[in-house]
Amino acid sequence: MKIICVGRNYVDHAAELKNEIPSDPVIFLKPESACHHLSRPYKIPEFTLDLHHELELILRIGKSGKNIQKINAWSHINGISVGIDFTARDLQSTLKSKGLPWELSKAFDGSAIVGEFYHPVEFNLQNIRFHLLKNNIKVQEGQTKDMLFDIPTLISFISRYFTLNEGDILFTGTPSGVSRVNTDDKLQAFLENRCIFTLIVH
Ligand code: ZN
Repeated sequence: MKIICVGRNYVDHAAELKNEIPSDPVIFLKPESACHHLSRPYKIPEFTLDLHHELELILRIGKSGKNIQKINAWSHINGISVGIDFTARDLQSTLKSKGLPWELSKAFDGSAIVGEFYHPVEFNLQNIRFHLLKNNIKVQEGQTKDMLFDIPTLISFISRYFTLNEGDILFTGTPSGVSRVNTDDKLQAFLENRCIFTLIVH
């Protein structure tokens, strides 16, 4: 299983990090070991002083494919949920400034929180909404119609480069509102009005 992530897929988030609006999707990977099991306590890694939450709509691949056409994209997806792409922002800034790959800041153990998946038939695929509460305050809110590259475009683009296998997970990018997490913070991720998971930071 691999995790494929999209960067800068919402204009407002690209702006808050002062990134350019990309002409093609920005793609990076996380290994399977990045997944945090929600039954375990979550600890901030010792190598960062600026761990950011990035709440994202996530998709699970249900049917393998390569060079998938946009019109067929949804037939390859069998799960929708929300996840957090945890990012060591201080480390990422250092790596970016040196022109180095981002993996140390984005793909470490515990950098991927994956919520329970629901079948796409449960959603209006034209627009799916999600949000994050931090200590009971709404800090991030997104909807898929604000994506720079919509879901069929992402599936088509990514599968030109990577075979998508059953069980792979796609993180589709974060809307604005990313911020530092601290010890004792409570993060609650919602898909539409459903609370998908609660994470307490230790
Ligand atoms: Zn992200």
